[in-house]
Amino acid sequence: MKIFAATLATETNTFTAVPTGQVDFELHGSFRGDGSLKSPTGIGVFHAELIKLAAQDDHTVVESIAAFSQPAGRTLRRVYENYREQLLEDLRAALPVDAVQLYLHGAMVAEGYDDCEGDTIHAVRQLVGADVPIGVELDLHCHYTQLMHDSTDITICYKEYPHIDGLDRLRELYALTMLQAAGKITPTTAVHDCRMVGMWNTTVEPMKSFVSRMQSYEGQDGVLSVNLGHGFPLGDVAETGAMLWVVTDNDPIKAAALAKQLGQEFWTMRHEALKPPTPLPQAIARVQAHEGKGLIVMADVADNPGGGAMGDSNFVLQALLDAGVGHFAIGCYWDLGAVALCQSAGVGATLELRIGGKCGPMSGTPIDLKVTVRAIVEKHTQFGLNAHFPLGVGVWVQAENGIDIVLVSQRGQVLAPEAFEGLGIKLSDKKLVVVKSAQHFNATFGPIATEVIYADAPGSTAKDFKNIPYKTRSLNYWPRVENPWVI
Ligand SMILES: [Zn+2]
Repeated sequence: MKIFAATLATETNTFTAVPTGQVDFELHGSFRGDGSLKSPTGIGVFHAELIKLAAQDDHTVVESIAAFSQPAGRTLRRVYENYREQLLEDLRAALPVDAVQLYLHGAMVAEGYDDCEGDTIHAVRQLVGADVPIGVELDLHCHYTQLMHDSTDITICYKEYPHIDGLDRLRELYALTMLQAAGKITPTTAVHDCRMVGMWNTTVEPMKSFVSRMQSYEGQDGVLSVNLGHGFPLGDVAETGAMLWVVTDNDPIKAAALAKQLGQEFWTMRHEALKPPTPLPQAIARVQAHEGKGLIVMADVADNPGGGAMGDSNFVLQALLDAGVGHFAIGCYWDLGAVALCQSAGVGATLELRIGGKCGPMSGTPIDLKVTVRAIVEKHTQFGLNAHFPLGVGVWVQAENGIDIVLVSQRGQVLAPEAFEGLGIKLSDKKLVVVKSAQHFNATFGPIATEVIYADAPGSTAKDFKNIPYKTRSLNYWPRVENPWVI
């Protein structure tokens, strides 16, 4: 069989004014036809895995684009349209194909396109016709739209947050698509709109067990796949929110019944499942009370570049300085000017450095500190969520009282201790590390932490789900209203 594959992913925070442009994709990785070769442990990892699976079955893969951008505001129209046209051009050249595999995010929004993925999949469907299976893998923070549903045969999203299971889901999608292509199954999907907006960590209960519960149905009695797309709360589009969908083998009644049943179970546990972050003063008090008991990891969830924040907010650092807390590490600050000044000064130099607080009101105000440049790494990187993520130039600066700060020239959330230790900072010597990340850090920091604190501070990815200023999405959702089912 001939399988056509493409990857295009970014998560769009429509409340962020900073647009996502071509350079943003190229910074992380933008390939056409050779992503699996040029970036096999980066953005090409999905194609590389698919090619491996297909080779075992004597199938061939035609690779198209593979591109990812760190989340920010709406993608520029011409940038999205260009990627879509490249994909369609490659598909036209590859026709006829026996199956299509698309690795998309599900919350990509461009100028003029509130549902980039639906638009792309629909265009693919127009080209391949009704009989060629289209399998799509989405991020857990997807908006599973009607258009995606109508244009796809099988859609599977990640089950875990942090997203440690991207390759596991890819293997499932591949297996099911191949069964369909061979005429052995007839996938049918039913969706339950949960009418909920939030972000749910799957490392803790009750979500941890809910993931297992969804999986317990798969492979039984004709149930092929069970998915909970959490939605991305900061994407203001009509279909933002949690959707639960079930794929069965030609059994729409069972699919609908199970989607509704599991959707209602998710609703029933809503108060327990949606855990609010800890107010910053309380988070700092916990750090102070924890003295000498190992490493605390504090997440600055409101300044998560993975959700479109700028990664230069100072609210947490300022509060720690005000409280007299020392012996901690914090990062990664996206601060091009500070990086350049440190490069110019060189390793070993001591200088007065203005750090962070530069991108806008949600970044707070800059902090001036006397620091020593301890290390500069020209191509700083970290490995997390099955792939390498570049951080550009990485700089370790040290202020008095054992405060280590990581500055980077490429915006990115913290995914692994390597973000600090790759520069020489020893986290085992610290009592606290502050990570600019909402949850993905937990996959690698969780095992080394004695306590993980999700701190609530101002910022553009703050978790105030009740009061998101939606203009497009309906306001009839929990937790904004107590019962969205009365309407
Ligand atoms: Zn996600």
